[in-house]
Amino acid sequence: MSEEAIKLGGKKKSTFMDKVKELLPEGGNLNLCLTCGACSSGCPATGLEGMDPRKFLRMAALGMDEEITTTPWVWMCSMCQRCIYVCPMKIDIPQLVYNARAAWPRETRPKGILGSCDMALRNDSCSAMGTSPDDFRFVVEDVLEEYREAQPEFADMEAPIDKQGAEFFLNQNSREPVTEPDEMVPLWKILHIAGVDWTYGSRGWGGENYCMFLADDDAWKHTTGISAEQADALGCKVFLNTE
Ligand code: SF4
Ligand code: SF4
Repeated sequence: MSEEAIKLGGKKKSTFMDKVKELLPEGGNLNLCLTCGACSSGCPATGLEGMDPRKFLRMAALGMDEEITTTPWVWMCSMCQRCIYVCPMKIDIPQLVYNARAAWPRETRPKGILGSCDMALRNDSCSAMGTSPDDFRFVVEDVLEEYREAQPEFADMEAPIDKQGAEFFLNQNSREPVTEPDEMVPLWKILHIAGVDWTYGSRGWGGENYCMFLADDDAWKHTTGISAEQADALGCKVFLNTE
């Protein structure tokens, strides 16, 4: 992997880095980097778009705001947080990445993530596939019936939606009800055998969080808020996040 040298165009004041520091407890430790490189060696996005997390952090510290708020590398970061885990100073690089994403005008952000977030805003399912609550209910009931009939040992298995007072609120990857409905069943079976009292919500069952990956705070708050409201309205005690 070849790395381009960082060219300094005179001393600049980093407004971007200062702004992110203000948002984080302890400033996210953003100015404590030892340049050890541990973050970069374990990062799945290292080398993509000529960037890695250490370089990104150094450029931010050097005040290269224009460069870090326009590099497409920020969209390569998976937000896995591995860099924080290995960093001796626990520096919060993904927060820096998140805020660099937010600096992009919304319509210029990657189409796949943007489209999935917009789909999640279409109805109260918060599904990245745009599936409505009624369609979700239809698929769940249909698949459940099929398995109850085909596998007598699961004849009394349940897959409830909006069960009042259930202990666990379960969400669901949105792709499965649409493209691979059978993939929902193994988890139902595990919960059934374990005797877990659970429910989906008709609102907020979509488990992905594309609006977070898009760095759209308002949309992220909206979709997460619907899931949380529904779990509260049903009186669930534990939110089982499958994503
Ligand atoms: S692991 Fe932490 S201290 Fe080491 S280079 Fe990366 S950010 Fe800096
Ligand atoms: S959170 Fe982003 S920068 Fe950190 S290791 Fe994961 S992909 Fe790399």
